[in-house]
Amino acid sequence: MMLIFVVLFFLKIINFFYISQSYQNLLNYLHQIDKMLKNLINLLFPKLCCGCEALLLQNEQIICAECRHNLPLTNHHLMKDNYTSKKFNGLIPIELGVSMLYFHKEGIVQNLIHNLKYKNHQEIGTFLGNWYANDLENIIAVYAISEIIPVPLHEKRLNERGYNQVTTFCKALSENLGIHHNETILKRIIYSKTQTKKNKQAREELKNSIFDVSFTEADYGKHFLLVDDVITSGATLEACARALLKIPYAKISILTIAYSDS
Ligand SMILES: [Zn+2]
Repeated sequence: MMLIFVVLFFLKIINFFYISQSYQNLLNYLHQIDKMLKNLINLLFPKLCCGCEALLLQNEQIICAECRHNLPLTNHHLMKDNYTSKKFNGLIPIELGVSMLYFHKEGIVQNLIHNLKYKNHQEIGTFLGNWYANDLENIIAVYAISEIIPVPLHEKRLNERGYNQVTTFCKALSENLGIHHNETILKRIIYSKTQTKKNKQAREELKNSIFDVSFTEADYGKHFLLVDDVITSGATLEACARALLKIPYAKISILTIAYSDS
C-alpha cells in the first residue's frame, strides 16, 4: 500500500514536469501532491481518536464523530445547585461550581483526561476549552469573573511532566471569554506523591498549607475562577480556594473538565 503511494507520488511529479502548461495546471498539481503527501503521512502515522482509539477520518480532529456525539455533558451550567457546587457546601463559599463532563472509569472522558495528562495531547484541552467556553459565555458574563486560575502543579512535578495539564484548557477559556489567565498568583509549595495513603487529620493539615498565594492590593475583591481537570473529593480545589480567600474580599468559583463520583 505504502509502496503504491510512493510510486504514485513520483509518477505525479514526473507527470507534472512533462505536462504542466499553465499556472492553473501548476496549482492543480501542487494541490494533488499536497493531498497525496497528507494521505501518505496519514498512512505512516495514523491519527487515532483520543477518546476511543479508532482511526480518525480526514475531516475529524482529536476525537471521532461518535465520541463527540457521546460525550457525557453534565449541563451543570444550567443548574446552580449541581453535583460540583454541592461538594463545597458548608466548607467554603463559592459563587459558581461547574464541571463540563461526567468521568466514568474506562469511558471516553477517562481516555481524554489520560491522554491530556500523561501523553502530552495538550490539544485536547484546547478542544474542550473552546467547546465549554461557548456553553458558558452567557453565564460567565453574569458572574463577572476577573481571572482564570489553573490548579498549580509543584515545580518539581511541572518539570517532570513538562506542562500543566489544564493550561491549554484555561487558555482556550481565557481567549474565548476574554478573561485574564493567571498562572503566577497561586503556588503549590508542598510536593506530594499521593494523598490517598495519608490519614484524615494529616490531609486536613496539609490542605491548609499546600498552596501559597502572592497578591497585591490590586487583587482585592477579585472573582477568581479556579480550574482543575477532575473533581473527586474536592480537597485540592478547596485548599486552593482557601489560599485565594486570604485575599481581602476575594470571591471564588470552581470549574473542572470532569466530575467524578468516586
Ligand atoms: Zn472515538
